[in-house]
Amino acid sequence: MPSHPLLFDLGKRKPTTREIADTVRHGGADALTDAQLRADLARYQEVSCRSALNPVKGMPFRWTLNPYRGCTHGCHYCIARRYHTQFEMNSDDEFASVILVKHNIVDVLARELDRPSWKHEFVAFGTATDPYQPIEGHYKLSRRAIQAFTSGHTPFGLVTKGPMVVRDADVLRDQTAAVGCTVYMSVPTIDEDAWRTLEPGTAHPLQRLRAVRELADAGINAGVLMAPIVPGFSSSRSKLERTIKAIADAGARFVGCNVMHLEAGTRYHFLRFVARDFPSMLPRFERLYLKKYAPESYRKEVKAMVSALQNRYGLRTREDAETSRKPVEVTADETEAEQVGFAW
Ligand code: SF4
Repeated sequence: MPSHPLLFDLGKRKPTTREIADTVRHGGADALTDAQLRADLARYQEVSCRSALNPVKGMPFRWTLNPYRGCTHGCHYCIARRYHTQFEMNSDDEFASVILVKHNIVDVLARELDRPSWKHEFVAFGTATDPYQPIEGHYKLSRRAIQAFTSGHTPFGLVTKGPMVVRDADVLRDQTAAVGCTVYMSVPTIDEDAWRTLEPGTAHPLQRLRAVRELADAGINAGVLMAPIVPGFSSSRSKLERTIKAIADAGARFVGCNVMHLEAGTRYHFLRFVARDFPSMLPRFERLYLKKYAPESYRKEVKAMVSALQNRYGLRTREDAETSRKPVEVTADETEAEQVGFAW
């Protein structure tokens, strides 16, 4: 039987994330021969996803969306480092240099939001990667996902360190008017040394705060997460105060914070980084992080200091600002940390 040419060239089928994991397991990340090397020296591998919204448990939200995997911002404390190991890639260099791009995620998302069974629940957008890392300028997946949420009448909260988010102020405004959204700009500290040391690929913290100003001025519920505060690097009272004052000056609608926790691949990477670049700090980190979380007494101390400064500078808490989502019971065990009896 004669074969007929296709009317439209559909191009080569993109691999699934499972196929990528198998490829890397057998040949390492170098086996991703279709990945594009770009000017930032990261390799970008397009993948096809079967689902867009991921169900999660034990978090204050039930659904997440992540258009990319891996992040060229390369923060040393990033909790998402451990997710890269699920794709057979390491949580060190490959997390920041091999990025998976879910090229079809917006189409899949639109179909999921259109299902009669979808209950229009709050979605946490950007929990495992930054949706406004530089490659978003090329793919515009996050921008189109926002438009899909608006059409699908679904509220979301978006976390980013990328000032590029102001490019999408127009669609965020539409979403705000239709169903609501919150932009959480992550600015753990404005201290230059801590920023350069801990977040090597990110925009300057003051540039991020300027983005908050622009979004808030555009009527979008935009605030700041000091997440995470890293003991010894950004936890001193003077650094916290300078940061909170700058956040207030930027017109942020709220501020929240958490103290760094270390889990699996993130723990492995972070402690190796400290051992290599700040060996004198390693014993303190090893004492403070006997488990995943720093001791509860330490976290309370930091949060109390942030809370006092928040009041001083007239900033609302993150919880006060979250009006568009229903509370969900949190079951994550944050009580396992033990007392070690010193503050840092
Ligand atoms: S910007 Fe966010 S996702 Fe990217 S490396 Fe930093 S903490 Fe991780």
